[in-house]
Amino acid sequence: MKFISHILSELLSEFLFLRNGSCPVCGKVLFAGNDFLCPECAGRKPFNSGPVCDSCGRALTDAEKRTCQHCRQAKIKFDSGFCLFHYQAESKAMITALKFKNRPALGTYLGEEMAKELKALPWISQVDLIIPIPIHPERRKERGYNQSEKIADGILSGLGQKCSFSSVNKNLYRSHNNPHQIGQSLKKRQENMLGVFDLHDPAAVFDMNILLVDDVMTTGATLFEAAATLKEAGAGKIFVAVVAGLDDH
Ligand SMILES: [Zn+2]
Ligand SMILES: [Zn+2]
Repeated sequence: MKFISHILSELLSEFLFLRNGSCPVCGKVLFAGNDFLCPECAGRKPFNSGPVCDSCGRALTDAEKRTCQHCRQAKIKFDSGFCLFHYQAESKAMITALKFKNRPALGTYLGEEMAKELKALPWISQVDLIIPIPIHPERRKERGYNQSEKIADGILSGLGQKCSFSSVNKNLYRSHNNPHQIGQSLKKRQENMLGVFDLHDPAAVFDMNILLVDDVMTTGATLFEAAATLKEAGAGKIFVAVVAGLDDH
């Protein structure tokens, strides 16, 4: 009997494992000992190295500049920012798997990877609340989860003792859906985003230093609008952390 239940549990774990069992970048089947990426893709993670924007943390191609073109145009500056990866083919494949291929655990894994780097940043100890960028309830229903919440959960568990709070804050919500933003300028995107966020309890963010978490930053319009909503409610410093940020050109 014991033997049969052992076989059954082996089969079950094999089944569960196979359901999420391919590398999100190259599609190769993963084995039990592998990470969330196959060894080859894990060895080629597109880490954001070199100079970064003082405000949002994206990579700068011109090291002479202190901030990226988007932060220079935006009305709000982030107090600091962190991007784990350059936004390019490999990181896009990871984000696509996380958002559209039912891979929520990949979000937690990426958040934990982010926490390894965030731990070393001087501002991380100032964070009072960690708030994921919300998705619209309809989108959440389709997807079954909010990818940014999964990333934030991973950051929180990875930071461990480094943070003074034990849960991800869900105060921010999306009050209405915005149109898809692909291929639009920052100005147009900012117009589309105006007023999409709201707070369940605005008083709870007053004077709080907040780490906003999202999967991707291209123009940054979503994060700028979320920051504006928090600032209106009297939030203190706003930091941002994303899995992948588009390089500044
Ligand atoms: Zn791979
Ligand atoms: Zn920037």
